[in-house]
Amino acid sequence: MDYTKLCPKCGGALVAISERTGGFSGTKAVAGAVVAGPVGVAAGALGKKLTTVQCQKCGYTMEISASKAQSAEAYGQIYGPLEELRRQIIQQSMSSPLDSAPNGLNGVKIKIHDSLQISLKADKMREKEREVIASELEQINSTEDERQPVQQEIDRLSSEKKAKEKQLKTLGLFKFSEKKEVQAAIEQLDAQMEPKVKELKEITDRLKMLRTDLADKCLRLACDAVDEYCVEIYRPYAKQLIAGLGSEPLTCSEINAKLSSSLTALQINSMLKDNPFITTTKKVKADKKEYSAYYLG
Ligand SMILES: [Zn+2]
Repeated sequence: MDYTKLCPKCGGALVAISERTGGFSGTKAVAGAVVAGPVGVAAGALGKKLTTVQCQKCGYTMEISASKAQSAEAYGQIYGPLEELRRQIIQQSMSSPLDSAPNGLNGVKIKIHDSLQISLKADKMREKEREVIASELEQINSTEDERQPVQQEIDRLSSEKKAKEKQLKTLGLFKFSEKKEVQAAIEQLDAQMEPKVKELKEITDRLKMLRTDLADKCLRLACDAVDEYCVEIYRPYAKQLIAGLGSEPLTCSEINAKLSSSLTALQINSMLKDNPFITTTKKVKADKKEYSAYYLG
């Protein structure tokens, strides 16, 4: 989150309300310039287009450069609501700390009836709910499709290179002309590989950005879905848990580490499993065991 693009008082979205040209140009005042106070404008603002922006939430106004105002406005439309959600979640975490969440087995029992109904609903609704992120998912899938052949080509080239390197070693001493030939082949493989590696990096970066954008969108959607898809006893905690998720799958212990909580796998699963904007997957850890992992998207 880029906080310089949001209201410094409350984190709300900023909207441009008026514009002027800052300061004085030479001795002549620029038309429309309003200089407040004896000092007026900072040296850098002289002759610059300045924009007054106002916070949509608390009404706070300030003056910033026109270009900064433009990017702040675009940013605020997307991240203003997200920042508000983040603040709500922080407030909630004060009144209902995660570790006070009831344990479904020992403490307050989840009514089977309740959880069954929510699961049935989730099964039925998941696809329909996810239509709002269909275009993002499609973009991610097509980028993934783009990545695969490039990765395969790199794999092919590097195994060919390895074979050539092995061949070079077996040639031993002398055989200079043969060695020269193999060396040239290796160099050619390197040259072929270079643009492919660049291309792969570009696609991977793009994919990462798409996934991060989707996770941001899903954070809001998943929190909105809590009331409908989470059993009542867990509702005060679910949003805090969701706020700890991202675009990469996290296991229960990773979630606990991130949120400094000590929730059980069952508690985490109960809060997340039915949410249409959270995907459950498996992650194999160093001990070769499979663990449930969750991500936004
Ligand atoms: Zn504000």
